[in-house]
Amino acid sequence: MSITRHNWTKEEIIELYNQPLMDLLYRAATVHREYHDPNVVQVSTLLSIKTGGCPEDCGYCPQAARYHTDIEGNDLMSVQQVKAQALRAKSSGSSRVCMGAAWRNVKDGPEFDQVLEMVRSINKLDMEVCCTLGMLTETQAKRLAEAGLYAYNHNLDTSEEYYKEVISTRGYEDRLKTIENVRKTNVTVCSGGIIGMGESTEDRAGMLVALASLNPQPESVPINALVAVEGTPMEDEKPVEIWEMIRMVATTRIVMPQTQVRLSAGRTQMSREGQAMCFFAGANSIFAGDKLLTTPNPDVNEDMKMFEMLGLIPQKPFTKVSQPQTVEAEESQYQPLGEKPKWSRPAHKIERNLKASGKK
Ligand code: SF4
Repeated sequence: MSITRHNWTKEEIIELYNQPLMDLLYRAATVHREYHDPNVVQVSTLLSIKTGGCPEDCGYCPQAARYHTDIEGNDLMSVQQVKAQALRAKSSGSSRVCMGAAWRNVKDGPEFDQVLEMVRSINKLDMEVCCTLGMLTETQAKRLAEAGLYAYNHNLDTSEEYYKEVISTRGYEDRLKTIENVRKTNVTVCSGGIIGMGESTEDRAGMLVALASLNPQPESVPINALVAVEGTPMEDEKPVEIWEMIRMVATTRIVMPQTQVRLSAGRTQMSREGQAMCFFAGANSIFAGDKLLTTPNPDVNEDMKMFEMLGLIPQKPFTKVSQPQTVEAEESQYQPLGEKPKWSRPAHKIERNLKASGKK
């Protein structure tokens, strides 16, 4: 068995990433087969439960209020709406629902209580529940865990160095702190990044060093290809080449052998052959549904045809970690503390973000 190492260096990862493709694929596929069934791929559904109007300035994101995009904002969905969508996702083969809210951080109050109810209702449908709600305190993480949350997503996005070129409204250490808070519970960690934002191979390797050095490593690592949306600071970035995506997936698989590697945003630009190579290289999850938060995604029927063609089987829920218990709100042992943590606000200047904010 390949051992799980937490001391990968950037140089080692760059060497892995740049080796001849056939060697890289062979090694990644070998590691993949040691820990995973290569014919099983998880289908997850991403639901945007609160869209747009976000105060952050992530350079890739059409939901940031300061950029001028065509995104239609929506207030927090109701528990009934979310439950109905989760049931639909389950009937089309999803075993996991990830709920995303465009918030800087979680705030105690009625909206967070509503999200906790959503978590309870989806866990009761016997589906894995994941949330991505921004920065989180330890008590908030514990309240989510108690409601039955299976995973919390908080992406590192890129290397610590390049992060400063993408976001100025929070720092890398805030991301790591939230992940640390989640780790104080039984909730699993989902954290990955985006390629195609103008970063270098060193930055891609730097992000993998940061993720692989977490102990334990994240149970789930989404690899996204930037979907350049008009109006955002990254609207002119060139699409990622399929070979870069395959190399990134394969390298991630080698440095994090036990992790679920998720082929995330950018699949509409990939051929079936390209996606098949990503699965061979170690990707074992996709997001289903025609939207990924706000960007386009392949139709679920198309995905099911691809599964049939490749002989892939959708993964059952709770295959890797058992189902959490749900504690009802009235039996909760945690009180909302109304905490006001001091998340950082570096506020350095990022020219392309400023330019996009100032557009009419
Ligand atoms: S990625 Fe998340 S935090 Fe950043 S602007 Fe978009 S919704 Fe806000």
